[in-house]
Parts: sequence; structure tokens; C-alpha cells
Amino acid sequence: MTQIIKNIAIVGSGLVGSLLAIYLRKHGHQVTVFDRRPDIRTVQFSGRSINLAMSDRGWKALRHVEIEDQVKQLAIPLYKRALHVKGKPMYFQQYGKEGQAIWSISRGVLNRKMIDLAEKEGAKFRFEEKVWDISLPEAKLFTGETEKGEWQEYQFDIVFGCDGAFSRIRHKMQRRSRFDYSQDFIDVGYKELTIPANEDGTHKFDKNSFHIWPRGRFMFIAMPNLDGSFTCTLFLPFEGDVSFQKIRTKQDTIDFFNTYFPNVSAEIENLSQDFFNNPTSALVTMKCYPWTYWDKVALVGDAAHAVVPFYGQGMNAGFEDIYELNQLLEQYGADWEQIFEQYQELRKPNADAIAELSYRNFMEMSAKTADPRFLLQKKIEKRFAQKHPEKWIPAYWRVTFSDRPYSEALLIGDAQEKIMKEIMKHPRIEDLWDSEEIELKILELLAEEEKNSILY
Ligand SMILES: Cc1cc2nc3c(=O)[nH]c(=O)nc-3n(C[C@H](O)[C@H](O)[C@H](O)COP(=O)(O)OP(=O)(O)OC[C@H]3O[C@@H](n4cnc5c(N)ncnc54)[C@H](O)[C@@H]3O)c2cc1C
Repeated sequence: MTQIIKNIAIVGSGLVGSLLAIYLRKHGHQVTVFDRRPDIRTVQFSGRSINLAMSDRGWKALRHVEIEDQVKQLAIPLYKRALHVKGKPMYFQQYGKEGQAIWSISRGVLNRKMIDLAEKEGAKFRFEEKVWDISLPEAKLFTGETEKGEWQEYQFDIVFGCDGAFSRIRHKMQRRSRFDYSQDFIDVGYKELTIPANEDGTHKFDKNSFHIWPRGRFMFIAMPNLDGSFTCTLFLPFEGDVSFQKIRTKQDTIDFFNTYFPNVSAEIENLSQDFFNNPTSALVTMKCYPWTYWDKVALVGDAAHAVVPFYGQGMNAGFEDIYELNQLLEQYGADWEQIFEQYQELRKPNADAIAELSYRNFMEMSAKTADPRFLLQKKIEKRFAQKHPEKWIPAYWRVTFSDRPYSEALLIGDAQEKIMKEIMKHPRIEDLWDSEEIELKILELLAEEEKNSILY
């Protein structure tokens, strides 16, 4: 397809902005990336900031521009969950099939690498330059030190808003008529903590596992870093009986961890200090539409769709946006209006689906894990999936280890839920859950759904 070289701005040098810069440079476009923050490569940090799980969709997007192997060197494969359930010895749950893994990677370390790679491809970065405004029809950006101060004006052909969940570019689009927008905070926040390495540099827990301490309404997780440490996250309601609000003193922190997470409490670095030094952050689902303005402006990544992190897919979804956008670029060449129209139509249902799946996972983890009927349903599903792996692929696997659309995972998940609702109506389900009768009933209901061609 014929390309016409465009002068393109990307607002935001996060993971999505820097990967998009690499893709656009591969097509020969001029690329300038703006970020309000200093260059993350010059900022001192331990390399232990938020950890992300990269899964198949993310890797696919990196593979396409031949940077998968370099990035994998910065990541650790996690083949299984390690569950630290209170009152039980720790046990493992394999993630996928043999050898399948999600990968733990530090957001800061990854971002540094991606900026390096984008710069090598020829993208120009303008750090500490905040974008305050945009003229959408002209693709003109206005940057400056303060909102009221003097602004610098830049003219581009196209602008991509990759400026995160609270995007300034989207903010401008919101002022247009018929722009849909919603923002929903959940009542749970999070805080990062650290488990340092052993003295010899090894990890304190199994390093190839995603460690989870589930406690119903709250949980603690730990993901390994290359230096032997773990980055941990405490997810906890802001208010209520067990909540951030109730932890007011250093002693409260120690009591809280000793009560709920006794096997890890002593391993956390500077627990009582870090708990108060590190911020408590909020979690939001943000949806909006349209994502584009003519052939001039498009939102990508969190700026277009922010999701709660309980499926580990926010970055993966943003990387998939770029992969799909690139497919359209290859198909339509210089017809940016067509590219942008197709991009938003293709991606919006999938962004909504992963938002819904992520929110449901949060509800499942926080509200339903104490419900015996829910646990029984999960046990039946697991047994059936083990006996008929080709007939019952769990939504988690479809989201994490495949590149089929998120919307398909949601649809099939809904059909499976409908079947399970029917199964759970059986008056003797508690006694018969692992019987042939129940297995045959599931097969029968599946066959009915297959006739409707939802399940395959
Ligand atoms: C606790 C937590 C855990 C997560 N875990 C996972 C996970 O396991 N797997 C996964 O795939 N995803 C995960 N995510 C989601 C993931 O972090 C995000 O989806 C991803 O970082 C989004 O990247 P982005 O580049 O779109 O936005 P951001 O990372 O927010 O980057 C936006 C950039 O834009 C810049 N910017 C903002 N406004 C302006 C402006 N006006 N002018 C100039 N620059 C500006 C910012 O400085 C920033 O550099 C998690 C998120 C959280 C909060």
C-alpha cells in the first residue's frame, strides 16, 4: 500500500505511546513524542515500580516489530499461581497448558527499554513538555509550563492521544456534542510494597509463580523482579471494617499484616514506614466513544479505555490496539480516515468486553469467593474442563493465552455461565456435583448452545 509520510505527534511516552512510536517509524513517518514527565531513563528508581503481567496479546505486538526477545530478557515467566489461603499450606495452580506462562515485568524497566528502542528507530522525544490543549480539526498542539502561562504551538498532520486514563486529548474531545464518556471508581484501592531478595540475591518465594493471598474483600499479591525482590500490591477497600481507613498507625499496619498475612508479614521491607510513605491509589474503569476525530486525532491505550487490573490486561489491550491499527495501516495505506474509522469500530467492542471481564473478576474475587455455591460451581466447571478440555475453555485462558477477540471470550463466558446456572438448579447438586449425570447434562446443554453456534 502506498504511504505518504506524515508528521505525527504522540502525546504520552508511556508503554503504549512508545510502542506506537516504534510502529509508526517502521512505516517511515516522522514521530515526535511529548511527555509532561522527565525522561524515565534519567530518573533514579530501584526498578521495582508497579509490575505488570505481559501475556500473549502483548508479546504478539512486540514480536511484530521484532523486539519480543529483547524485552523477554527483562521479564520472568510465571507458569502458575501460588495460592496462600489462610489455614492451608501454600498450593499451586497451573496457568495454561504445559509451558504456558504470563510474564512479570517492571513497568518502569519496560518503559525505559521501549523509549530506548523508539529512539533507536528515529522517534524524537520531548520530555517535561506538557500538552495543555489541542485544536482537533487542525491537529495543532499547545504545550507550556503552566495552564495560564505562555504556550508553544506545534502543527502536525496527525496526533495520537496516548496520555493515559486522565487524557488531556480526550478531555478536549469530551467537549464535543455526542461524545460518550463514563468513569467508575471501585471502592478498593491499592498500595505497592516490596519483599527484598535474600542476601545471596535469590527470591524469598518461588520466582516462577504469581503469588496471591486471597482474603475475600481484599488480597495481597507478589510478582518477582530480576534482582530477587518481589513487587507486592495490597488491594483493600478504602472504607469499612477492614480497610485503608482503619490502618492509622505503624502498629495497626503490623497488626493487620500479622493477622491476615502472617506468612509474609515479616518479609516485607520497611513495612510500617513504606505503608505510609507509599501512596494509596484508586482504580478506575473509563469508557468513551468516539476514539477518533476525522483523520486527525486518535486515542490509543488507557486514554481510550482504562480497565481495573484484575485480568492483567490494560497494557496488553493497549498493545493490541497498536497491532490492529497497524494491520489497518497496511491495508489502507494513506487513507487515514478509513483507518481511524475501522480502528475504533473494531476495537471498541473488545475494549468494552475486557472492561467487563476485568470488573467481573474483581467482583468474583472480592464478593463471591466466600460463597459456597459459587465455589461449588467453580469446582464443577474445573472438573468438566479437565475431562473435556476441547469443549470447555475457561475465559481466563481465552483472554490470556489466545489472540481471539476479547468480545468472543465474554460471549462464550456468558454462554458457559448460562449453562452453569441451569446445572446449579439441580436439587441435589451438592451430592451429585461430580457424577456422570451432571457431566452428561452439561454436555447436553453445550450441544444446545452449539446449535445456536455461540460455542464451538
Ligand atoms: C495496579 C495496576 C496493575 C496493573 N497490572 C497490569 C498487568 O498486570 N497487565 C497489564 O497488561 N496491564 C496492567 N495494568 C494496566 C497498565 O499499567 C496500563 O494499561 C498501561 O500502563 C497504560 O499505558 P498507557 O501508555 O496507555 O498510559 P500511561 O502508562 O498512563 O502513560 C501515559 C503517559 O502520558 C503522559 N501524559 C499524561 N498527560 C499528559 C499531557 N497532558 N502532556 C504530556 N504527557 C502527558 C504521562 O506522563 C505518561 O507518561 C495495571 C495497572 C494498575 C494500576
